[in-house]
Amino acid sequence: VIGWLRPWLFPVACLECDAPGVAFCAQCAPPAEALERFELGALPVVALGAYEGRLRRAVVAFKRGERAYADAFAALLRLRAPLSPHAWVVPVTTSAARRAVRGFDQATLLAHGYAGPRSIDALRKRAGRAQHGRSRRDRLGAAPGYEARGDVAGRRILLLDDVCTTGATLEGAARALRAAGAEVAGALVLARATLGP
Ligand SMILES: [Zn+2]
Repeated sequence: VIGWLRPWLFPVACLECDAPGVAFCAQCAPPAEALERFELGALPVVALGAYEGRLRRAVVAFKRGERAYADAFAALLRLRAPLSPHAWVVPVTTSAARRAVRGFDQATLLAHGYAGPRSIDALRKRAGRAQHGRSRRDRLGAAPGYEARGDVAGRRILLLDDVCTTGATLEGAARALRAAGAEVAGALVLARATLGP
């Protein structure tokens, strides 16, 4: 189905209870008590909740390409974790290849919905080829590779991503932005996944 026809042919309804109007309704969205705050090194992170149950199903649907969830998640993020007045939001973008498959970049979509003009596209994932000729240890140490782009020096930045698992992606992104002179104040994610025992 052509993208712009989709919402018209298939009106948005709550994934869980089928309530019309929003991708997940107030009853089915993760409550304020589900909010998780943790630290990755010196990086404070806030997640809407644990990556399980309803939240997990919604995130998976969003990642599969259900753009309707972007608005619902952005609204929820604004409610649970309002952006401080002097901060800028930088989405942790995916690779160009993945974006081509999905047709959109979910972190960028979220950042626009959450922060509007205060979202800046300031990260680029380094191409895999750049890793050639480096030792395995170097590659592991550098992965995942991000580089900052545009003028971020002196800006106070909040990173935005969908799911935080090991935190290596967020830490890599923070490192790149800090190296470019930005102040990375923290990160905001939809869900926190914990690795199995
Ligand atoms: Zn519902």
